[in-house]
Amino acid sequence: MIPIGPDMDYPVISLNETSPLDPEYHFVNSTSRQLVFIVGSGSLLDSSAVLFRKANTIADGANGNEPSDIVSIKASYRDAVPPKAVPIQSLSLAIAQKCNLGCTYCYAEQGTFGGKPDNMSSEVAKASVDRLFLSAPVGQPITLAFMGGEPLFNREVLHQTTVYAAENARLSGREIKFSITTNATLIRPEDVALFQQYYFTVTVSIDGIGGSNDKLRPYISGKGSFEDIKEKLGLLMSVPNRKFKVLARVTVTPKNIGLPEIFLGLLDLGFDSIQFSPMLKSPTGAEELSGEDFNFLLLQLIKCGEMFRIGFNSKQLLALQNVMSTLQRIHFYQLESYPCGAGGGYMGVSAEGGLYACHRFVNDKEGYMGTIEEGVNPEKQREWLNDRHLSNQNACASCWARYLCSGSCHHEVIKRGRPACDYIRGWLYYCLGLYADLMESDPIGLRLLLGDKKAVCTETETDDGTGIIY
Ligand code: SF4
Ligand code: SF4
Repeated sequence: MIPIGPDMDYPVISLNETSPLDPEYHFVNSTSRQLVFIVGSGSLLDSSAVLFRKANTIADGANGNEPSDIVSIKASYRDAVPPKAVPIQSLSLAIAQKCNLGCTYCYAEQGTFGGKPDNMSSEVAKASVDRLFLSAPVGQPITLAFMGGEPLFNREVLHQTTVYAAENARLSGREIKFSITTNATLIRPEDVALFQQYYFTVTVSIDGIGGSNDKLRPYISGKGSFEDIKEKLGLLMSVPNRKFKVLARVTVTPKNIGLPEIFLGLLDLGFDSIQFSPMLKSPTGAEELSGEDFNFLLLQLIKCGEMFRIGFNSKQLLALQNVMSTLQRIHFYQLESYPCGAGGGYMGVSAEGGLYACHRFVNDKEGYMGTIEEGVNPEKQREWLNDRHLSNQNACASCWARYLCSGSCHHEVIKRGRPACDYIRGWLYYCLGLYADLMESDPIGLRLLLGDKKAVCTETETDDGTGIIY
């Protein structure tokens, strides 16, 4: 039994520690030592005096003069200048622009995206699959996501399109992955069978346990949805030899910010992983986080991170996606110039067949990218890739966290700006320290957990023997 709970001790991180001082390196504290994070390479070095001199040399190296005595440079350089075009290899289909819930903050405005409730026709869905297979480079995996509104309002098209896309993949010898984001309330046994047969990733939107969920995610009638979600989770979790993952996505608002209790409650419900997503922008401004909320949110998320740490050290995975994805970004450090594939390799499709930068831009002219019938408008995509590239985000140029954050979600930045940078840097700072600690305590275990195929210990003594480079 792991001794964890909401009242556990946790590190407190101050703004003094995380504010950007130098764009090329940043000091980070793990529990046992002070480290220097080298922005150009992603390396973490012990900050002893000798190594600090080396750090400066490495920072120079990142600017083009690579010194010869570096043991390990992790980063690979990508997209140093904005690409002109990127082929689509992932689509999310808004197959039902309608919903049975009335979530108070819904970005999709109860699924309608500000228009009239609509279902995607099977013709548009199949044309989307054809477009995806035409566009995706051979050899690259293809992903097809079903979203809404509530996608299970259009069950027939969900089932037909999955079978159609899987058959296309089989005939062309290509790999395809399916996912669905659902409120779970409409799930039936035949849907579960579909998820099982096609190895879906099923993301369930749920904002807490009992009333904590119900005050944010009621039915349109006002009745709470939690008990129904719980019943349907039973259906999902009880499948023998389950071949699909069930993830929880929690939208965090000022009304459900007690994350450790929610984290433990959702683990108890059997979710394979839990993701907390802060609410930064809703169509009406309802439930948006602001000011002090972000400081409190950071402390709450760090408490969950500490639970993850205790679990890791006891060989028990407490699957917090916020930690896992950040540790992966640190471990496989790349000089990422975009926070996600939106407007590039990933796009959203509206019920009528419009192409948009991602699922959150559906029916929004700011993210319009073309149509399924005619394909991506090259001018629109070039403009997007240029405008959204990290090198064109002036606020980020001096930020030490820029290649881990990559400028933050386009939708939130376009609609609200960057009110959460201190929170983002605080979380990245914490995760860098956590990464260093876990790498010291069990490097092979951490590499295996993060999916590093080269799961062998490469911890290396530096040439002067005074420290380590991760
Ligand atoms: S958006 Fe991210 S990279 Fe840009 S300044 Fe804020 S924290 Fe730094
Ligand atoms: S723009 Fe934001 S919401 Fe859209 S895919 Fe990227 S991170 Fe997600």
